[in-house]
Amino acid sequence: MPDLKCTAKNCINNYDSLCALTHIKVEGMHASSESETCCFSFSDHSSSFTNSVSDFTAYAAPETTVNCDAHKCVYNDSNICKAESICVHGDGAQECHETECASFKEK
Ligand code: SF4
Repeated sequence: MPDLKCTAKNCINNYDSLCALTHIKVEGMHASSESETCCFSFSDHSSSFTNSVSDFTAYAAPETTVNCDAHKCVYNDSNICKAESICVHGDGAQECHETECASFKEK
């Protein structure tokens, strides 16, 4: 389970560059670069609240389970991210496709 840092300050789950969700989903089935990935769990402050309560921790902790379909990434093991730490970038993002997993590394 990687330590997750995230720069998507517009996301409702972002607390001090940590994520309040216990697990997130990263998309990028055909990704060959980080810009072709995105955090599917991003939820803009202005949009309605859609995450289930069970996804939340009482506080934002670094360790986050990451389900990821970016198969070409070296850290991807059967749709689970095995990196020690990752960073999701999303400065100014207003939707999930404006975020990316900056730790993507092609096999
Ligand atoms: S580092 Fe690779 S496997 Fe882990 S979330 Fe990012 S793209 Fe997916």
